[in-house]
Amino acid sequence: MFRKVLIANRGEIAVRIIHTLRELGVRAVSVYSEADAHSPHVYYADEAHLIGPPPPLASYLNIDAILTFAKKSGVDAIHPGYGFLSENANFAKRCAEAGITFIGPGVHAIEAMGSKVRSREIMTFAGVPVVPGTEGTKNDFKGLAKAAEKMGFPVLIKASAGGGGKGMRVVREAKEFDRAVNAASEEAAKAFGDGTVYLEKYLERPRHIEIQIFADSRGNTVHLFERECSIQRRHQKIVEESPSPAITEKLRAEMSDAAIAAAKAVNYLGAGTVEFLLDETGKFYFLEMNTRLQVEHPVTEMITELDLVRLQIEVALGNALPAEALNAKKHGHAIECRVYAEDPANGFLPASGTVTRLRTPTGPGVRVDSAIREGSEVSVHYDPMLAKLIAYGRDRAEAILRMRRALSQFVVLGLTTNIPHLQAVIETKAFADGNLTTKFLDEHLPDWKPEAVELPAEAIIAASLVDLMKSTSRASSTGETVQTSLWSEIQSFRLLG
Ligand code: ADP
Repeated sequence: MFRKVLIANRGEIAVRIIHTLRELGVRAVSVYSEADAHSPHVYYADEAHLIGPPPPLASYLNIDAILTFAKKSGVDAIHPGYGFLSENANFAKRCAEAGITFIGPGVHAIEAMGSKVRSREIMTFAGVPVVPGTEGTKNDFKGLAKAAEKMGFPVLIKASAGGGGKGMRVVREAKEFDRAVNAASEEAAKAFGDGTVYLEKYLERPRHIEIQIFADSRGNTVHLFERECSIQRRHQKIVEESPSPAITEKLRAEMSDAAIAAAKAVNYLGAGTVEFLLDETGKFYFLEMNTRLQVEHPVTEMITELDLVRLQIEVALGNALPAEALNAKKHGHAIECRVYAEDPANGFLPASGTVTRLRTPTGPGVRVDSAIREGSEVSVHYDPMLAKLIAYGRDRAEAILRMRRALSQFVVLGLTTNIPHLQAVIETKAFADGNLTTKFLDEHLPDWKPEAVELPAEAIIAASLVDLMKSTSRASSTGETVQTSLWSEIQSFRLLG
């Protein structure tokens, strides 16, 4: 077993990884930026090092600084979490050079899957169906326009280096094409340092279904079932579940065979996710492969009773996948909602501020993976996801009941959150029916706005009184201003102690 592992990440995923390290008796080393000095991942760790100022390039993306502390503290391995350096082939390479195990796949697999254009070629070669589109590296915009005409509108312009929905543009008419290509390419160049774009046929009402795969270095590659992540806002997932209400045993077998073929095509090691779009006729197409642990991995953990971080560590040590993973079984149903610091009344703009009150739900079938506590400062430097709420039930209906209950018990004050929006999603009939597509929000909640909260007069009066009693200032006999409290003014008089 490793003795010491450094987590090159922050937030809920860093805490999630520490939980497993603690269970395994492995010392956990955190790194943090100046903005995160009081974050849970700093307190939970056995050791924590300040690596730099808040901007990610100076801290969580600063390979030199991270490796300096890794060496200094004598860690055997680094877990990159998701985001940040998790899919950075150069970082994996630098870890290897420093004699530190990178808990993830090999450099070759990260590189191959880091480019959407290249991964499409590899998948086509491996016999995995891909979304129809242009092949090869396309920076020839005229050629792309012709290809779009030939393919037929609507088309989707995508960034080869893309992620997080950036560098993507739907084009419905030829006359919009040039402008969209330029905008997508510029956005991609800015976000990823690579403006390469290509085209895919735009599927109108697909489902997003992904297969969790796991591979060890002993020749085993298995799948751990699917997750459905169709409910998205601006191409970003907000609600995920497993199993998918749309998948039959036959389709599951076909999609997982394709996912395993995809993993084998790049000699994969560790945890990976092969994403597909499923169209209304039941045909599925490869979208991309993520070479890391996914945000939504807890739903898979709930239905398989496996610890995915532990499996990552086992295969990184060179061990075979344990029997419970090789013959994984699923039970029940799990749903995850992503709780964001956002202002739903204001175009879902990221919100920042201090968490003044936090009540996270507990009880049967509820799990919260969170990165905040009361007093946490939520800054603009990082992803605004505050927590993931996961509900488990014997079946989908019970998981929905528990999710509904848990959302109603989730209190975050001091910041606006998207909790009311998540509640609205869960309450729709389409969600209950499992009628999900990536157009879900447009079709079912197009004009949704949070209800204005009407406080009863009694609540306002009570709050005003509490405020007044806390502290009032008055002038003393000598003319200075002194802070006092209504409680001291009324001296020994107390109602109800
Ligand atoms: P990113 O890597 O930026 O997250 P993906 O390729 O994973 O981009 O796609 C993200 C989401 O965008 C998908 O889940 C889907 O909703 C939408 N999308 C991507 N490609 C297509 C397509 N060809 N047709 C329709 N929707 C698509």
